[in-house]
Amino acid sequence: MKYVVILGDGMADYPNEALGGKTPLDVAVKPNIDRLCEKGEIGLVKTVPDNLKPGSDVANLSMMGYAPDKYYSGRSPLEALSIGIDLKDSDIAIRCNLVTLSDEKNYEDKRMADYSAGEISTQEAKELIEYVASRLSTEKLDFYAGVSYRHCLVVHDAQLGTDFTPPHDISDKYIKEYLPKGRYGEIMTRLMVESYAILKDHPVNIKRIAEGKNPANSIWLWGEGTKPALTSFEEKYGLKGCVISAVDLIKGIGIGAKMNVIEVPGATGTYHTNFKGKAEYAVNALKDGYDYVYIHMEAPDECGHQGDVENKVKSIELIDSIVVKYIVEQLDALGESYKILIAPDHPTPLALKTHTRDAVPFIIYSSDEVKSSGFAEYNEKTCKQSGNYYEDGESLINKFLKE
Ligand SMILES: [Zn+2]
Repeated sequence: MKYVVILGDGMADYPNEALGGKTPLDVAVKPNIDRLCEKGEIGLVKTVPDNLKPGSDVANLSMMGYAPDKYYSGRSPLEALSIGIDLKDSDIAIRCNLVTLSDEKNYEDKRMADYSAGEISTQEAKELIEYVASRLSTEKLDFYAGVSYRHCLVVHDAQLGTDFTPPHDISDKYIKEYLPKGRYGEIMTRLMVESYAILKDHPVNIKRIAEGKNPANSIWLWGEGTKPALTSFEEKYGLKGCVISAVDLIKGIGIGAKMNVIEVPGATGTYHTNFKGKAEYAVNALKDGYDYVYIHMEAPDECGHQGDVENKVKSIELIDSIVVKYIVEQLDALGESYKILIAPDHPTPLALKTHTRDAVPFIIYSSDEVKSSGFAEYNEKTCKQSGNYYEDGESLINKFLKE
């Protein structure tokens, strides 16, 4: 048996005025997904426990079968694994954004002008983070460069208990109230203040300003956590698994679960991503002896955050016409039994531009057990009408992989 999870990040939504009161899943033309809906089992699954925030970290852990209340230990440590940092049990990993702060004289009077520093290139960011590291690293502090504006600070022999604020939650706001507090609040604030002095006149930033781009003039620390202790996927489910994603966080979960992370050229995390490449690499992995592949596509979530109705619909149609179509055709031709799970991790409603914790619609299709669900279209409404409901991701995944 081969198992494929096709995960459309943030694909679920609320009825939207711009779509005549329908959702993107409802209006998208997706004959391949709908065929699996008709012949499979559909329902809703709650991927985010009530005590956790509806982040992609928590929700994707759920959809890989890892109960977040048991396995989630923070966002940054998962990204740290993806960057290749060997975290110790006594380390704390903290997300280190490169951000653009406004020009007020005193640091605490500034505003959060851009949490991504104009989505700075990885190469420019590397130069800046290495410069910060050369000035601010100590025996207890190490900076690591990641991708674009997303980097990592590791604090050795440290404890949790600092209150941080995600920079994307305070766009355009004055930062004063949101500076780190609690256990290491003063130390973390001081690092941020010192980074501004170091970064503001750096040649990379002088050049960015001259080009009309936002300078990466400060670091912003948040998202602390400890080394995750995920049971290996193979041990947990007896399957050889791999993960395909453009996103550090998802790759980090794969690495933490000791799965192989397959790099696909041109995988970007937007709707310009290499959908065909992801589908081909997934099928090749299954032909090469993997039992399970988790294909994560970030595009619908990105469009949700931007409130981009048209491209959210389009990204679902591309997942259907390129990824789902190819995988089903190839697996049918292969002749081996297979199961496909299609779902989002969480909704990213266009109207809210952020994640919610609502239960998400799913399809499970099994080539061995073709059903008649009674529903010809896959969307939030039909999955709810089915009356099929899973309290948590782990029980859905247990059913998908074990029954
Ligand atoms: Zn997500």
